[in-house]
Amino acid sequence: MLHMTFVRDSGNISREDTNVTVKGWVQDLRNLGGISFLTLRDRHGTIQITMPKKKIEPALFESLTRLSRESAIAVTGEVKESSQTALGVEIIPTSFELYSEAAVPLPMGVVDKVNVEMDTRLNNRFMDLRKQESKAVFGIRSLTVELISEAMAKKGFISINTPKIVASGAEGGATLFGVDYFGKQAYLAQSPQLYKQMLMSAGLDRVFEIGPAFRAEHSNTNRHVTEFISFDGEMAWIDRAEDVMAVIEDAIDHVLRGLKERGKNFLEIIGKEITIPKRPYPVLTYSECLTMVNNCGLPLKHGDDLGTEGEKIIGDIMAERGSDIYFITEYPEEAKPFYIMEKEGTDLSFSFDLDYKGQEISSGGQREHRYSELVGRMEKKGLDPEDFGSYLDAFRYGMPPHGGWGIGVDRLVMKILDLQNVREAILFPRDVNRLTP
Ligand code: ATP
Repeated sequence: MLHMTFVRDSGNISREDTNVTVKGWVQDLRNLGGISFLTLRDRHGTIQITMPKKKIEPALFESLTRLSRESAIAVTGEVKESSQTALGVEIIPTSFELYSEAAVPLPMGVVDKVNVEMDTRLNNRFMDLRKQESKAVFGIRSLTVELISEAMAKKGFISINTPKIVASGAEGGATLFGVDYFGKQAYLAQSPQLYKQMLMSAGLDRVFEIGPAFRAEHSNTNRHVTEFISFDGEMAWIDRAEDVMAVIEDAIDHVLRGLKERGKNFLEIIGKEITIPKRPYPVLTYSECLTMVNNCGLPLKHGDDLGTEGEKIIGDIMAERGSDIYFITEYPEEAKPFYIMEKEGTDLSFSFDLDYKGQEISSGGQREHRYSELVGRMEKKGLDPEDFGSYLDAFRYGMPPHGGWGIGVDRLVMKILDLQNVREAILFPRDVNRLTP
């Protein structure tokens, strides 16, 4: 006798099988008097359990047809050819095991077509993820991470992990989460910034990390959470910020092409097609962007953040020009963190953002590798160099020119799949109102 879960995509159950055990959740039960049908669902799909009343032992018929939806069971039975089912087979049960009965009513439906509020979905995430469309997002996300690692390995980057409990922040004090570290003030890391830069002095040359970043974001937007996964990279011996941009472009291109090819099943379930952006990705300067938004009636001035509205306007214009994805360079140094290199003789910086479909997905740039200039930038930003002792040490004994980036994985997946909310791309999102589940 065969014993397995049913796997539709590899055609595990075939007409040649005679007796099988299948395991899954009771998705649906239809009792038509003389015959009943139970739809059993597992990770891959569904199979029909057909119960002609006359051919099934009465006690078995009774128990199976009384099951509550979403109960977890195993059914053993005979495989029969069927022209009525998608699999081409059905199972006539001979026995079953109830692993766990589902309570009634369900907190939300799994197959119903009704739209459920985001909060209900997230409050009942275990149930929401039983939906094939919800689950498929995480198939795409897993593949995205795999493809990022592949792209980085091809370019000689090594995967690293840096501390998430840290003594100082790199991205500004407002979004730091404090932690009591045995009586000392510590913080949750906002990014691996300081550590990945220190590794440039260590000669690791090309590193990347896919790990959590924490930001105490008080605003409730559809693209900010307080804990996100950042794909960070840093590379040494660069000549200019464009060297870094070229690596990101390659990585994003590899991810999108890979998803289109290897993520077909998931994309089909979600009902999404991926369009591969043309290369090279266009490059706009910050000042060109200001002109674009000013021309559309948004009165931003030099030094202002482009903001949600500005990013959206630029996204629409670029989409009309046939470009979903583009770099924005030369931000005013004032708008960028202390570690970014200034463009000498101007108030600009060697920084860039990468925007995709009208939203920022990445920031990066060339870093200030010269010790005294770096200390000068800290002071300019009102930071005390004393708080950055071990970071600064790495700059005192031969730091190569370097640059890097941070890309929000959650936001990348959100934009690839055109999800309305970044939370849909996170299993258990954390935000200002959400700490459970
Ligand atoms: P934004 O302007 O969108 O708030 P930021 O400029 O604060 O982003 P960076 O510090 O440049 O973000 O971080 C790099 C990338 O990390 C962003 O482009 C984004 O993809 C991701 N990211 C940053 N903050 C968040 C957040 N709170 N939630 C989800 N992703 C984030």
